[in-house]
Amino acid sequence: MNTRWKAVSAAIAVSLSMTAVAQQIQVIPNYQKDNAWYTEAQTRLSEKEVTNNQFKAKNVIVFVGDGMGISTLTSARILKGQLNGQPGEEEFLAFERFPRTALVKTYNVDAQTPDSAGTMTAMMSGLKTDVGVIGVNEQVQRGECSTSKGNEVATALELAEIKGLSTGIVSTARITHATPAATYAKSADRNWEDISDMPESAINQGCKDIADQLVNFETYLEQRYTGIDVDGIEVVLGGGRRHFLPKDESFNSPDAGSAVEGDRTDSRDLTSEWQERYADGVYVYDQAGFDSLDTASTNKLFGLFNESHMQYEADRDNDIAGEPSIEQMTETALNILKKNNKGFFLMVESGRIDHAHHAGNAAGALTDTLAFEAAIKSAYENTDPEETLILVTADHGHVFTIAGYPKRGNPILGKVVNVGSEEPAEAADGMPYTTLGYTNGRGFMNLATETNSDVAYTMDIDTGRKDLTGIDTTSAGYHQEALIPLSSETHSGEDITLHATGPGSQLVQGVVEQSVVFHIINQALGLLDE
Ligand SMILES: [Zn+2]
Repeated sequence: MNTRWKAVSAAIAVSLSMTAVAQQIQVIPNYQKDNAWYTEAQTRLSEKEVTNNQFKAKNVIVFVGDGMGISTLTSARILKGQLNGQPGEEEFLAFERFPRTALVKTYNVDAQTPDSAGTMTAMMSGLKTDVGVIGVNEQVQRGECSTSKGNEVATALELAEIKGLSTGIVSTARITHATPAATYAKSADRNWEDISDMPESAINQGCKDIADQLVNFETYLEQRYTGIDVDGIEVVLGGGRRHFLPKDESFNSPDAGSAVEGDRTDSRDLTSEWQERYADGVYVYDQAGFDSLDTASTNKLFGLFNESHMQYEADRDNDIAGEPSIEQMTETALNILKKNNKGFFLMVESGRIDHAHHAGNAAGALTDTLAFEAAIKSAYENTDPEETLILVTADHGHVFTIAGYPKRGNPILGKVVNVGSEEPAEAADGMPYTTLGYTNGRGFMNLATETNSDVAYTMDIDTGRKDLTGIDTTSAGYHQEALIPLSSETHSGEDITLHATGPGSQLVQGVVEQSVVFHIINQALGLLDE
């Protein structure tokens, strides 16, 4: 039995025996003020009074859990507690203890339910824009290269570079995917990850693919602002090698998964272009290369650990040549970025929470959320709270919900067992049901121990109610039922959270538009002060 439950029941027992003795009149009876819930709540409140009230930060780290909506936070914290042998509901994710929190409105200028491109552009640039576009304002027409000209916006990462701070981008998704791309790229279409993804007209009009924009970030930024001299992004770690390599087998990485790894139809090898530009920089593509890094002597790092997205956390052991965890990548990035006395700006995205939800696999999404939490905890412990503002947020939520009336401590991935019962409750159709579920998507799949959520796309869509009697819904490969059949489960339109600690975090309060995130970063770092 968990300690909290013990503490609570003991406190109740003691209070009951004391009530006969303590007959004096008091406003708050002892059994109330000695109650463990009561005293702990009081302690938590006083903790919040001792928080950093400085407004200026030396460093900012923005953590974005892609698709990490509020129901994901609640169920991940319960799973975390249950994996530690507790009932779970009383658990906190490390960043949920941060003193400041706001609710964030996520819609895009032209969309009620947003996508990652529009939302991350809002967070990085301070204005809302259309769905599907990156680093450009709402004047753009998606997919029309010519409309992006003159509508490019500046990002927090670019302004940090111009100010002389070190900068870094870490993602478990392809580094050219919407969320990381919105820190450095300008594109009329989020899908233009390499030149083979672009229409001929866009290429002819001079638009550059997103991978090219990453590798040539320094040149393009200096072209955009006359008179500036930047030294480029210090740390880039993620997946997505295919967009940097030519469509030619001879360029395959040693741990390539496909027969021809690269997608580029312009014969360019952007990994070697990067290496030529940064002769002292280090390019790595697997766990061994990552593990052998000496962060003391490395000042520029480029790591691409997978052809496409990196593995799901639960599937990481199955990777061909191994991959670092998001916590390891964050730690390495910080070791390099911290060397700059002027400070740094780091963005860390957990990209695959979103993908596991799209596949309808709650176990996958929650496992990646916990890996993300470990990265945030490590960053908090390895930076000075007096000088580092840490922001933790999502870009949008998912149509993922926690429902029914399961009793306290009931397995979060399990079937609903009502209070006072030991057997799964029956719905009106006579069948058991799970606490977690999706409104839409591919629906029920019992893939047992399968840890790759994406296997769902090889199975038929199977929505509606299923008889779950005899099915272990807590296994890694269980995909929850969904009501509405769609090829992929969708984002949701409700608010998400923003958690903050450190100097400048006082501004994280209330209900805000997503574009406020940029202004909080800007304010803390004084990006426009000079
Ligand atoms: Zn730099």
